[in-house]
Amino acid sequence: MAGIFGRGHTGTTAPAMPPQAPVPAPPVSEDVETMGSPLPFARTSVPPEPLVVEQPAVAEQPLVVEQPLMDGAVDEIGVAVVLGPTGRPVQHFPDPRPVTGPTHARVISMCNQKGGVGKTTTTINLGAALAEFGRKVLLVDFDPQGSLSVGLGLNPHEMDLSVYNLLMERDVRIDDVVVPTGVPGMDLLPSNIDLSAAEVQLVHEVAREQTLQRVLAPAIEQYDVILIDCQPSLGLLTVNALTASDGVIVPLECEYFALRGVALLKTTIDKVRERLNPRLEIEGVVGTMFDGRTLHSREVMDRLVQAWGDKVFHTVIRRTVKFSDATVAGEPITSYATASGGAESYRDLAREVAVRCLDV
Ligand code: ADP
Ligand code: MG
Repeated sequence: MAGIFGRGHTGTTAPAMPPQAPVPAPPVSEDVETMGSPLPFARTSVPPEPLVVEQPAVAEQPLVVEQPLMDGAVDEIGVAVVLGPTGRPVQHFPDPRPVTGPTHARVISMCNQKGGVGKTTTTINLGAALAEFGRKVLLVDFDPQGSLSVGLGLNPHEMDLSVYNLLMERDVRIDDVVVPTGVPGMDLLPSNIDLSAAEVQLVHEVAREQTLQRVLAPAIEQYDVILIDCQPSLGLLTVNALTASDGVIVPLECEYFALRGVALLKTTIDKVRERLNPRLEIEGVVGTMFDGRTLHSREVMDRLVQAWGDKVFHTVIRRTVKFSDATVAGEPITSYATASGGAESYRDLAREVAVRCLDV
């Protein structure tokens, strides 16, 4: 994969390394085309015109101006189509209805083999927002870096039991490992660096791809939603997460290079669906770290919608430093800065997820 990205760089603007020895010319153009074809990114000379230009000078607008303008335009103009940050008509989703009756958790993986795209941030904050709406939520830290656990205030060196023990030791039960978080209604299966050993040890297990699914089974009737925070790779741990899941949410940073790995991710998801888990669905792609002031962010969203259509969530998560602050504080943004734009964005995402994925 590194090779793919490497070639992509040399094929664009980076100056080539000095030639070493005469090597037969690699099929660069073909490669670049194959790699880029699912999401070509030819910057058109003129950005596509929105149907109704609610903020013609949007590139220069401060972030906060967009939302009020959209709402105002709907009220005053009535029938006019107001476009959201994804370039499609704005949609508002209702608060999820309270849960009645027995639960059966929907298991959703946050997956993208690129690091730093917002998987962990989305897991924590989407989980916390769903818990605010009365859902019983279990978060699974499935990244040996343990960022999800740290982001919820746990010390990685002070874990008695972690997901590693649950996967590898037959006498460890899920209830032994689950810990409450500071958010009412939201629990966590924590991880630390021990989990990296599981990736190696699982190779020798029978039904190695189904290990997480097997150990999570008792939790399905105890929670409404289980969110799995995947590691940034498409290795055996991620395949385990996908095999245990009903759906996948792909957080994607609104940045050009972010688009390039998505085709490979989709291939992996398709393979897992074909070979291991026929019920696996792509719930959607959520744009993160969106900056409405830049043409770049909006171009990336345009390309994403062209390639993935309705699979792109209407909700986008804007870039704000509040997320890093909340991580340091060890809590979700929904409680750390409860009225902030970031907290509201994740509540919006929770509403949209409830409608799209949880059938409420
Ligand atoms: P991943 O889990 O995909 O590696 P993270 O969720 O850990 O990504 O995010 C990477 C970094 O980006 C973290 O420092 C996080 O605080 C920050 N971050 C995440 N989402 C946003 C956002 N919307 N705006 C600004 N910073 C963000
Ligand atoms: Mg992470």
